[in-house]
Amino acid sequence: GSEKILVKDKSDRATNEQVLDPRTRLILFKMLGRGLIERIDGCVSTGKEANVYHAVSPEGKHIALKIYKTSILVFKDRDRYVTGEFRFKGGYARSNPRKMVRLWAEKELRNLKRMQSAGLRVPEAIEVRENVLVMDFVGQDEWQASPRLKDADIPPEQQRAMYIEILVILRAIFFRCRLVHADFSEYNILYHQGHLWVIDVSQSVEHEHPAAFDFLRADIKNADDFFARRGVDTLGLTRTFNFVTRDTWVENGREETDEDAAQEVERLLAQAEAEEEDRSTAAATASLSLEDQDKAAAAAERPSASDEAVFAQSYIPRALDDVFDVERDVARVLRGEGKDLIYADITGVASIHKKGEKAIAEEEDEDDDED
Ligand code: ADP
Ligand code: MG
Repeated sequence: GSEKILVKDKSDRATNEQVLDPRTRLILFKMLGRGLIERIDGCVSTGKEANVYHAVSPEGKHIALKIYKTSILVFKDRDRYVTGEFRFKGGYARSNPRKMVRLWAEKELRNLKRMQSAGLRVPEAIEVRENVLVMDFVGQDEWQASPRLKDADIPPEQQRAMYIEILVILRAIFFRCRLVHADFSEYNILYHQGHLWVIDVSQSVEHEHPAAFDFLRADIKNADDFFARRGVDTLGLTRTFNFVTRDTWVENGREETDEDAAQEVERLLAQAEAEEEDRSTAAATASLSLEDQDKAAAAAERPSASDEAVFAQSYIPRALDDVFDVERDVARVLRGEGKDLIYADITGVASIHKKGEKAIAEEEDEDDDED
């Protein structure tokens, strides 16, 4: 019976019993019955919110089953992702954990599909049944899921390329998918076939979510910190944020590609390096105080160390509603005085400058590319 299929040994038993309530077992048995999967043979990961199992289809295809836990406690801290998310409007029943969990699983499936259509490397989503998400297994063989970026053995000479790839990914998620991952880190990226694969996207939010920029800033910080610790010269938070959120730099109305984005990162890295050299030469000759260096940086319109600190803490308005006084700010931008507006370069707000206020209304009813 169920014990034989789902429980490998005694140490797995406790975990299995936590997540596999009778209803979940029924869902799995139906999948076995339909021939979607032939066997479930191991637990790849046990997490706070979900466990991931390895399964095999009758054709021998490797499959990952992400089984969300249905305990209500687990989902309490997810409120902040849901508040303000239009896809949850009217549909979020706090009192019914099964229903809540189903929404998370469905959301993960939709986000995976959206990312895949945008050309991102993600596991292919197969289907979702209540709290069970079925997707492709990202791994070499039965028991071995590909390593998380955190554990991956990336050759030193490949680190920089992976850093550039991660920025291209952040840009694609924001600009092409109109999402923010919101839990982007070396724990939720798999290193597979020499590339980075994004996973764990159930909490990802639409980019007009009121807290989208706060999530994005945290995502960027995780990526920048990770590669900086590995000795890669990174762009830092401000430059990366501007790169990820900015209107396209590609001309002639053609679609921006990953190669374009990678080239832009290279250009920004070279620029940052040149600025860094200027700054250290200036500092060495004049032995400037930190404050004077900031002044010099401000004069040259580039981010200084203290700008980075301010940026990391400042509130970034997402929706135009969040801007304190839109008309005043638009007027300032149009007069060319908007440089100190932290959001002046951001997609949408920057285009006020170009398109005028009429564009605001159009952006409001921007289409929702849900499938
Ligand atoms: P959690 O919410 O528990 O963090 P994740 O989606 O991050 O859930 O999955 C947890 C772990 O399971 C991952 O770190 C990865 O090792 C493994 N995993 C998840 N999805 C897959 C997949 N499609 N293929 C292979 N391994 C996976
Ligand atoms: Mg995870």
